Amino acid sequence: MKPTGPIPPAFAGQQRLAIGGEDAEALVARAGDTPLFVYDLGLVADRVAALRRALPAKLGIHYAIKANPHADLLAGIASLVDGLDVASGGELARALTVKPAAQISFAGPGKRDDELAAAIEAGATLNAESAGEVARALAVGERLGIAPRIAVRVNPDFELRGSGMRMGGRASPFGVDAGQVPALVRTIRDTGAAWRGFHIFAGSQSLDTAAIIETQAATVALAARLAEEAGAAPPLVNLGGGFGIPYFAGDAPVAIAAIGEALGEALANRAAVLADSRFAIELGRWLVGEAGVYLTRVVDVKDSGGERFVVVDGGLHHQLAASGNFGTVVRRNYPLAIAARMGEPATQTASVVGCLCTPLDRLGDKVALPQVAVGDLVAVFLAGAYGASASPTSFLGHPPARELVVNGTASHGSR
Ligand SMILES: *Cc1c(COP(=O)(O)O)cnc(C)c1O
Repeated sequence: MKPTGPIPPAFAGQQRLAIGGEDAEALVARAGDTPLFVYDLGLVADRVAALRRALPAKLGIHYAIKANPHADLLAGIASLVDGLDVASGGELARALTVKPAAQISFAGPGKRDDELAAAIEAGATLNAESAGEVARALAVGERLGIAPRIAVRVNPDFELRGSGMRMGGRASPFGVDAGQVPALVRTIRDTGAAWRGFHIFAGSQSLDTAAIIETQAATVALAARLAEEAGAAPPLVNLGGGFGIPYFAGDAPVAIAAIGEALGEALANRAAVLADSRFAIELGRWLVGEAGVYLTRVVDVKDSGGERFVVVDGGLHHQLAASGNFGTVVRRNYPLAIAARMGEPATQTASVVGCLCTPLDRLGDKVALPQVAVGDLVAVFLAGAYGASASPTSFLGHPPARELVVNGTASHGSR
């Protein structure tokens, strides 16, 4: 038997799985079929509210929509956060349907000229990833007769410790090396473009509270140093995010109260050059990851070589991350459960495998389960971020998963 990660608090302790107060089977009936992603917008609202309580009062909270761009989820989240961070022309178009351009920033390498033009025409901020991109944005702005709004994404000279995906402190396709930033800021300002500040993102999926605190303090200090060298105060400093969520056995959540307190101190003691700057953090996974559950139905139960296999109608084509093939080195089990039997004791060890004809398609490896029968619903938790939109949907020709947002209008934050 191998351990699974912790079931998120909102669902742990249930007898039969309900999401947003509605039974999992009823949700499947409402959506029409399995496999199904359900996103509880009420849980997202709770996360945002908890962050606002923990973080310094004036700090902006941005949502990085690549974590989950589902239209209904995005519409709901847009009213809760202060900004949306996008990373493609497609995401920009989605974001513009739910948020004013002044609250949208566009990061990511390889922005094409037509994507730059779309952002400049709309009035969104470009988080420039290189000097070459700045030059192209200025040329596009010239052609359109619009001064582009440009922030410089900084490749910091440090990285977020304990981060699942490091994005700083070394040669990187992301951002401008810190040493080259002041000169680039001067170039932007000299051309009459609207310089919007710095975007400094040092890593993702960190559960190390001390490392996040240290990185945020270093980020504020780096912004001050670069601003002084550039001779200009940044209107906005986007401090990045990188807060992880507990996926695996032994993982514990980050302590947002401690992070908020330390960030409050770092900002209170910031250098004079940053006195009038606004600050924001951008989060994807932490805001939406725990709010999503992937529901898939048992099609077959078979024994082979002394092991039991529970075969479901979903798999890695919808939820690649749970199979261990998205950004992890060692495969470990996400939390999962038999939806209608969460209160029953485990009586067997079985592997939950998907319907794809590849040995990679394993949602649970030798996990402890109660009795399981064909027709049961399996719930794979932590499916709200980097699930449906980050999986190889076309692989093997099965239909895409359905997606349903619950708690969209009811009583945000009342639970
Ligand atoms: C992916 C990404 C995020 C979101 O990261 P999470 O780990 O989901 O919070 C934020 N900012 C940038 C620049 C990103 O590329």
